[in-house]
Amino acid sequence: LSETDKNYLLHSIREIEDFPKPGIKFKDITTLLGDAKAFTMLMEHLVARYKDMDIDYVAGIESRGFIFGAALASQLKTCFVPIRKPGKLPYTTISEKYSLEYGVDAVSIHIDAFSTAGKSKPNVLLIDDLIATGGTATAAVNLINKAGAHCIEACFILNLTFLQGDLDIKKTTPVYSVLEVL
Ligand code: AMP
Repeated sequence: LSETDKNYLLHSIREIEDFPKPGIKFKDITTLLGDAKAFTMLMEHLVARYKDMDIDYVAGIESRGFIFGAALASQLKTCFVPIRKPGKLPYTTISEKYSLEYGVDAVSIHIDAFSTAGKSKPNVLLIDDLIATGGTATAAVNLINKAGAHCIEACFILNLTFLQGDLDIKKTTPVYSVLEVL
């Protein structure tokens, strides 16, 4: 992507102050999705990056990772796996906990999520809209590996790099961010 394209994408994301609580600057990607030029540019960029990486599954983190992940999986002609909050998936799940500022949360997948490709260690691309502290994505990478697959890269549309949320993931797994907020 050229700097002009990146700027266009960055400006297509709306920022909402103090949502969902005071002090948070919420990056609202619905305005990117609502801009056909931006959404197409982004998806074409992701398809070009990942089409030759031998990806068996795109795994998206609930809920905005579902949007980009499912669109990408379809264009790559590969499978999509949802990574969800606990209690949402109906079949047997495995989970990975992670700590929040106050308390813990977890991410879950179906135990057989990566069995349909018929490979012993299928390649999984993890995707989410945004990485902040990195807690969610780090747990998701661990979960993918725990499920017997290989997370070949973690991809984010936006990385709040000042929070350095990708440091832990980078110890084991490549990280790619389309856009960065310094
Ligand atoms: P974290 O675990 O702190 O990296 O948070 C990442 C998850 O929370 C992602 O699924 C994001 O969609 C969401 N998130 C965190 N911070 C923001 C923000 N400032 N704007 C929009 N979404 C956010």
